[in-house]
Amino acid sequence: MRATVMFGAGDVRIQKVPDARIIEPTDALITVTRACICGSDLWPYHNMEPSDTGRHMGHEAIGVVEALGADVRTLKVGDLVVMPFAYSDGTCVFCHEGLNTSCIQGGFFGSGVNGAQAEAVRVPQADGTLFVLPVGKDDKLMPSLLTLSDVMATGHHAAITARVAPGKSAAVVGDGAVGLCGVIAAKRLGVEQILILGRHPDRIALAKEFGATDVVSERGDEAVEHVRELTGGLGVHSVLECVGLEQAMLTALNIARPGGTVGRVGVPQDDTIPAMRPTFYNNITVSGGPAPVRAYIEELLPDVLEGRIKPGRVFDRVIGLDEVPDGYRAMNEREAIKVMVKP
Ligand SMILES: [Zn+2]
Repeated sequence: MRATVMFGAGDVRIQKVPDARIIEPTDALITVTRACICGSDLWPYHNMEPSDTGRHMGHEAIGVVEALGADVRTLKVGDLVVMPFAYSDGTCVFCHEGLNTSCIQGGFFGSGVNGAQAEAVRVPQADGTLFVLPVGKDDKLMPSLLTLSDVMATGHHAAITARVAPGKSAAVVGDGAVGLCGVIAAKRLGVEQILILGRHPDRIALAKEFGATDVVSERGDEAVEHVRELTGGLGVHSVLECVGLEQAMLTALNIARPGGTVGRVGVPQDDTIPAMRPTFYNNITVSGGPAPVRAYIEELLPDVLEGRIKPGRVFDRVIGLDEVPDGYRAMNEREAIKVMVKP
């Protein structure tokens, strides 16, 4: 089969690889009908050391179940399923607590287990991982349903961990697909004032359609000053940090009002969190992490099916598998917000 393999920074290739197959009795094999390129795929695209064997990319997908291991109970061949970026058994203590990304038997697609920017993918812990969708494989809602594998659920996690609440204020740092979904999530959870920090006109326009009330296009100290102006000098109750770079985190911490919370979902590119002293004196809570996507699908799905939220609008390019290398380039150069792949 064909799959996306990254061999080093900027070096993404479509390769002929051994067919994905069932290995464990708890596995499912799915034929990928939709996949996509994630903002977090751009981190190795920037800094991956050259590798002879490469890394199989992709952690977001919708697909059709082709085969099942002997122990899988809740799925059947032919089911259309959405695949969260992490697999999980659904039965351990952390899964029961709704923190599937810490599953004792869990892991992440594209690291250890092969990725989903491919014709097919092996899904470990299929019963606990996959969620059956009640639509056909070419349903018009497919873009929005695909965001339930990562970006919409991740934006929701940013909002939840930032403790957004009706009538309160929130700021979203980052105008990528996750940040835009964070705007949707904040609006959906009743936030009144939603600030978007970003500077790409097409993304800002979408953020406004999704519910952003104010735009902060400055960076650093100027951004902090602008947020203060918009919030009576106080800062915001909740900050959704959707980038992962030190500068973004510093801005996030500096715009939270005393007692406020930063929910971070951008994959951190540094080992330390800045602003130790001011965040101590301001009683700032730093929260967040990888979204337990599987735990959120049930809650978000009805809003997608009934059209109350349209996170699929973050996709502004659709390509075939052979065009994936150019898809990485387009996202890296900010030519595309998010690229959908139809293998
Ligand atoms: Zn578990």
